[in-house]
Amino acid sequence: MNLILLGPPGAGKGTQAKIIETRSGANQLSTGDMLRAAVAAGTEVGLKAQEVMNRGELVSDDIVIAIISDAIDAPDCAQGFILDGFPRTVAQADALEGLMAEKHKTLDAVVEIRVDDEKLIKRITGRFTCGNCGEGYHDEFKLPRNEGVCDECGKSDFKRRADDNEETVRKRLAAYHAQTSPLIEFYSAKAKLISVDGMKDIDDVAVEIETKLASM
Ligand code: AMP
Repeated sequence: MNLILLGPPGAGKGTQAKIIETRSGANQLSTGDMLRAAVAAGTEVGLKAQEVMNRGELVSDDIVIAIISDAIDAPDCAQGFILDGFPRTVAQADALEGLMAEKHKTLDAVVEIRVDDEKLIKRITGRFTCGNCGEGYHDEFKLPRNEGVCDECGKSDFKRRADDNEETVRKRLAAYHAQTSPLIEFYSAKAKLISVDGMKDIDDVAVEIETKLASM
């Protein structure tokens, strides 16, 4: 199964991608995670992307298209892929169509996760993760059971994303509305789009996605 998860930053694309991954065997491909790994590794791509990401703007289409072109060919995508954070512009969506045709792959569905902006700001600015195992936490909604200690792995190495501050989040949301939201119409016109209510609990969102995909 090949899917796209579409939605503003903080809508829960990464969380839902992981649930679908476990259920279906398709592989999550997050361009944000791949770019952050490139920044951490200090690669040429990372050096180009870092400042743009810290400003809350979009990295150039060429860079992310090249990343995705390689990633969807990798053996871990043999059972499909779940694109999380890509495409983010109409140019990226056009390029993806070309890549998939070339590689004889088909897109099964695009899942739009809808959440309102003010909720997103609260969700994003409060989130942090365990730097060791990746477990996600939130200042208000999910603190570790023992302060400063990860519930999952017991380590005390928490981190926050550099772009999760309110000023940058507002810019990321503006980029979403200006550059990414036209994709809702783009995929709706191709009868590929399903929309789910991302304001519900994680498990309820997952059920809504599963049900709507099954009835496509
Ligand atoms: P995310 O983890 O999806 O919120 O992405 C974090 C940041 O990485 C974004 O604000 C962009 O700067 C960059 N980024 C991730 N995916 C893309 C993409 N498909 N196109 C352009 N920039 C991207």
